[in-house]
Amino acid sequence: MSKKTLIIGAGGVGNVVAFKCAMNSETFGEITLASRTLKKCDSIAKNIKDKVGVKIDTTTIDADSTPKLIELFKSLKPNIVINVALPYQDLTIMDACIVCGIDYLDTANYEHPDTAKFEYKEQWAKDEAFKKENIMALLGSGFDPGVTNVFCAYAQKHYFDEIHTIDILDCNAGDHGYPFATNFNPEINLREVSAKGRYWENGSWIETEPMEIMQVWDYPEIGEKDSYLLYHEEMESLIKHIKGLKRIRFFMTFGESYLTHMKCLENVGMLGIKDVEHKGQKIVPMEFLATLLPDPASLGSRTKGKTNIGIYAKGIKDGKEKTVYIYQVSDHEKCYEEVLSQGVSYTTGVPAMIGAKLMLEGKWQKKGVYNMEEFDPDPFMEELMVQGLPWKIEEKSNSQE
Ligand code: NDP
Repeated sequence: MSKKTLIIGAGGVGNVVAFKCAMNSETFGEITLASRTLKKCDSIAKNIKDKVGVKIDTTTIDADSTPKLIELFKSLKPNIVINVALPYQDLTIMDACIVCGIDYLDTANYEHPDTAKFEYKEQWAKDEAFKKENIMALLGSGFDPGVTNVFCAYAQKHYFDEIHTIDILDCNAGDHGYPFATNFNPEINLREVSAKGRYWENGSWIETEPMEIMQVWDYPEIGEKDSYLLYHEEMESLIKHIKGLKRIRFFMTFGESYLTHMKCLENVGMLGIKDVEHKGQKIVPMEFLATLLPDPASLGSRTKGKTNIGIYAKGIKDGKEKTVYIYQVSDHEKCYEEVLSQGVSYTTGVPAMIGAKLMLEGKWQKKGVYNMEEFDPDPFMEELMVQGLPWKIEEKSNSQE
């Protein structure tokens, strides 16, 4: 019987997911794209019809409302819901999936709108309910989290007896020509990078000031870049699932212009997430800033350059020390040519489609709530090669550290 797929969220990532599902329509069957603003869904559907020749349906949804989601799910009866709206909607959508008995996938863990804190606690707490309803949730199926978790699982399976340290490296060397813009949702992006840094060593979390630790890493096909230590959500699950791990850190590159703008905006209070009174109205500074900044979905046609995201893993195999670097390089312009989106949306949307494909094909199926590294990495790594995100692996005798 033909499958039905529901995608929620018609932003930069939603565009890529919808394109890629349409390009794999023998697996995804009838596809519906639902979001807050219908005209964004319609415009994506038109582009897909024109470029891929596949018709997808569209509808509006307020994904903050579980009752409205339940109503939609009951009328559409999808086999899977791919959540690429915002992290604020993770719990409402998961709850509706539990009520309707539908598999769930997302790319970012739950964030409470009033606290700049993201963690898996609330989503993991739904494991029992997912098991009881005989359904599955796959959390964090983007690039980071997502592919980075799969890279770690792949290194663990094929290259190590024990992994001792992991450094996750995220370099976006793309240039959109604006003095300041974010490559994905501005609010989520700025909350992430302005928060305190954190890494995990010998069983405990070590907190740093925002951007306190900088290290230069050499990214193949890009070159050396200043990279800053941030907290990133995949570390929370990887410390549970990677054997023998002693330390895990996450680094992201930022250009000087980005950092200077961010510091100024922070200094004047524009990154605040609490209400302020303005001319008798309550506004949240960060939300107002997001309104002013370019829509990430509009950066596609003007972004040039490459992304390189990967993991450095060091550990022991057959009693000997070794280092393995697994990475993926994407070209912003090539991504735009294929699906009308820049590389950051592309590298997130393709893994979301692949995770959903493996679930629908029964290759990744377990009842309950799971992170990516809890599954066999091989089928995912094979799909990356053929779905637009080919990866490379280097074995090194000594690391850059
Ligand atoms: P955008 O802001 O471009 O898109 C989000 C979309 O969700 C918009 O179309 C928005 O609608 C819709 N939306 C927001 N709130 C609601 C709601 N209450 N009901 C229905 N629809 C809603 O974000 P991105 O596409 O850049 O990012 C999407 C997700 O991907 C985010 O969760 C982000 O954190 C995640 N991400 C994950 C990455 C990874 O590697 N794992 C990397 C990058 C992003 P409207 O247009 O009407 O506002």
